[in-house]
Amino acid sequence: MAMAMAMAKTDALEQRVHAVVRPEALAVGAYHVAPVPEGTIKLDAMENPYRWPEEMIERWLERLRDVAVNRYPDPRSLPLKAQLRERLDLPQGAAIMLGNGSDELIALLVQGAGGPGRTVLTVDPSFAMYRVVAGTTGSRFAAVPLDPSDFSLDRDAILEALERERPSLVLLAYPNNPTGNLFCEETIEAVIERAPGVVVIDEAYAPFADATFVDRVLARDNLLVLRTVSKLGLAGLRLGYLVGAPAWVDAFDRIRLPYNVNVLTQVSVEFALERYEVLAEQVQAIRSERARLHAAIGERGFTVWPSRANFVLMRAPAGQGSALCAALLQGGVLVRNLHGASPLLADCIRVSVGRPEENDAFLGALDDCREKMDSLPTP
Ligand code: PMP
Repeated sequence: MAMAMAMAKTDALEQRVHAVVRPEALAVGAYHVAPVPEGTIKLDAMENPYRWPEEMIERWLERLRDVAVNRYPDPRSLPLKAQLRERLDLPQGAAIMLGNGSDELIALLVQGAGGPGRTVLTVDPSFAMYRVVAGTTGSRFAAVPLDPSDFSLDRDAILEALERERPSLVLLAYPNNPTGNLFCEETIEAVIERAPGVVVIDEAYAPFADATFVDRVLARDNLLVLRTVSKLGLAGLRLGYLVGAPAWVDAFDRIRLPYNVNVLTQVSVEFALERYEVLAEQVQAIRSERARLHAAIGERGFTVWPSRANFVLMRAPAGQGSALCAALLQGGVLVRNLHGASPLLADCIRVSVGRPEENDAFLGALDDCREKMDSLPTP
């Protein structure tokens, strides 16, 4: 009896929630971050695996001592913007807008340029958040399939899609997540040229790529570049930045909530950028481990794609992707199972580049899986 009453109450509550919360929001699948068993090696989220040197941590803590947490943060974050401009070679004359991670900026871009009756265009596969925010804003979402063999961008297909869809916003990750490649520069130039709306090049993985469109934001009248300090090593601080002509940036800045970047983040990123060489050295270590990891996966007989980011994409034999991810987790290593994320990613697995010993543990776990699962390749 009590059980039946409790269930009826839950149903009534559920109905009430459904009557109030917009269907677009309810349709979004919750962003699933799996709980990780203690001691698991985390190679699933493209984090920088290195901590700061002890002496740097001490100085940082000293700096935090003076922070006035009783005050609201500087809503314009001018010192931090000046530091970003200087350390990360942003073009003079370009405007900068800061976000609580580049995730927030993606949401603001779509809120500002998308919405009912408007289309957001990207490619498939790409960063899942583009689809999620398009959905919550009631925007139409269109994704041009990449080439299934090397994930390159088909020039004719995307130019046709621009004509057909007339998107107000084009989002292109460069390098792309989860495929790790850079699209052809000339094809992107053609997209910028022909796009009826604004084109945002999402350069989250720029520190690992040696390629950028940031120098062109003032030369083109519909180009914005989105970056983050997450992959550089500051993912926990949550800071993304949008760079572009003042007219564009100011327009999107209007819908930003005034105190979106908290004072601890502002001070901590400024501090970290003063010691940019520490982060740059870590990036260099990740880049050389990326080459080793790529080669070692290939030597084990798996398909693995070249990467300009801090992860590599590999493919298990047909039907084995999910089982391999589960077996790797049993072996103590968490990777990202992409099977089902896109028709082009059947049995694909994304592996973030870790510290040398973490990458060795991954390769060791992969070898153990090959012994246990006879369907996996042997060299
Ligand atoms: N863009 C791309 C292409 C990404 O892969 C990610 C994170 N995985 C982000 C943006 C978001 O990064 P953040 O919110 O940490 O700045």
